[in-house]
Amino acid sequence: MKVKPLPAVPYIKIPDEGEPYLEGYKCGSCGATFLGERATCSKCGARDQMSTTTLPTRGKLYSYSIVYRSFPGIDVPYISAIVDLEDGTAIKGNLINIDPDPASIEFDMPVEVIFADALGRKDQEGNSYLSYFFQPAS
Ligand SMILES: [Zn+2]
Repeated sequence: MKVKPLPAVPYIKIPDEGEPYLEGYKCGSCGATFLGERATCSKCGARDQMSTTTLPTRGKLYSYSIVYRSFPGIDVPYISAIVDLEDGTAIKGNLINIDPDPASIEFDMPVEVIFADALGRKDQEGNSYLSYFFQPAS
């Protein structure tokens, strides 16, 4: 039996059928979308107008920084990025499958959201975690 990984963060949804996705919250008043649950829209201030939405898996690199500071079990350098998804949601994550070198990274380059094992992290029962990353899109 295949054990289902646990989401590394609550807004990663792992359906029984189909691909994992990121769940966002969309404002019914102004249409702004955000990652993560909230009751009040950060853009227009509307209350109790938020409903869940499936975030797109493609976007553009808005900004990044190459991180050299290591933690136990973390390989450096890695690229911490902010990506504007196609619907305008800005999300933060690590950009992978590209050299951590400014010469190979371009602002506005197309990226896609992928889901992969969260760096070998396990909970006490040995369950693995699924996390999301960005990678260059063709
Ligand atoms: Zn709003």
